[in-house]
Amino acid sequence: MSAWVQGRVVERIDWNDKLFSLKVDADVQPFVAGQFTKLALEQGGERVQRAYSFVNAPEAEYLEFLAVAVEEGELSPRLQDLTVGDNIMVSPRPSGFLTLDEVPAGRELWMFATGTAVGPFLSILNSQDCWERYETFILVYAVRYEKDLAYLEMIKEMAEAHPKQFRFVPIVSREAVEGALQGRIPELLANQSIQQAADLPIAPARSQTLICGNPDMIRDTVAVLEGMGLRKNLRRTPGQITMEKYW
Ligand SMILES: Cc1cc2nc3c(=O)[nH]c(=O)nc-3n(C[C@H](O)[C@H](O)[C@H](O)COP(=O)(O)OP(=O)(O)OC[C@H]3O[C@@H](n4cnc5c(N)ncnc54)[C@H](O)[C@@H]3O)c2cc1C
Repeated sequence: MSAWVQGRVVERIDWNDKLFSLKVDADVQPFVAGQFTKLALEQGGERVQRAYSFVNAPEAEYLEFLAVAVEEGELSPRLQDLTVGDNIMVSPRPSGFLTLDEVPAGRELWMFATGTAVGPFLSILNSQDCWERYETFILVYAVRYEKDLAYLEMIKEMAEAHPKQFRFVPIVSREAVEGALQGRIPELLANQSIQQAADLPIAPARSQTLICGNPDMIRDTVAVLEGMGLRKNLRRTPGQITMEKYW
């Protein structure tokens, strides 16, 4: 199989002036919910490629990616310029370890995301056998402004479909929003606000955590969770903290 296949944009969603989703028709190898692939565009004869997580469940017809146009970014502003019918190069070989296969058993699965990193968690929550794996799933989704919260309708449907098993904790850092916590994930964990909002404790004997997105958030969140007795989940020494940095 060649290194790239040609995909075609079949739909785009604009969540705000910088945040968007692309649905792409492309023939890639099967993937596991939570994984990512690479997208690329040619620029002046050179290929610019970056990693993007699948938002769609593995069994969905089209691939879906949530992206933000990074100011001065090399690829993401050009992805934002794509419209329906445009071509895009897609790596047919998905990869990544932010998957439930990598996570040990536990009672609750906490998923902490900043910004576009909510994508892989939506893929996991939309995948077929996800709900049998843990008693409760808590999606903690942190953004700067309310307008940066994407897929709220999908998340609401998940909550309605799994009222006992699913809890949603939105966090907005730069404005006060009704129904959302205000601040950063590490501080809101340290002062128990997130645990109170989810009405669940965090402890090594019961909690598994997935953390994805901004590397500063990940570093600080890991430190807080380690202070609660959780340990990084490594293949040779299983623990409770599994993570994926976006840069
Ligand atoms: C495993 C993995 C999965 C990823 N999945 C996604 C995804 O699903 N959606 C997505 O938008 N990006 C994702 N990224 C980031 C993506 O690969 C690019 O880095 C991003 O789109 C910026 O590329 P660029 O060429 O425009 O910017 P560059 O010129 O490469 O600039 C990179 C800088 O942009 C900023 N940045 C990068 N990604 C983000 C982001 N997501 N949100 C805010 N700031 C960012 C950081 O400051 C970083 O230093 C993922 C990265 C990894 C490693």
